[in-house]
Amino acid sequence: MNSPDSLLFPGSADDGATVCSAKGCRSAAVWVLAWNNPKLHTPERRKTWLACEEHREHLSQFLGVRGFLKDVVTLEEWESPVTEGD
Ligand SMILES: [Zn+2]
Repeated sequence: MNSPDSLLFPGSADDGATVCSAKGCRSAAVWVLAWNNPKLHTPERRKTWLACEEHREHLSQFLGVRGFLKDVVTLEEWESPVTEGD
């Protein structure tokens, strides 16, 4: 398993946990899925889900079939702070 220390990253806006967003999954996240629901969000808005290796594809497909998925990047790439309005 991964060392928790290597997963801490600055600028984490929420509860500080970098855990996969998949239901029931407690694995450390390595991917960030950036998405936008045009019915709820302005076009430049980005919501994010975290995903472990195992669930990246599943979560990507969930968002992708709805046309919500905008970007998939690693947590390391996603280090710059993201505007979280609410
Ligand atoms: Zn997972």
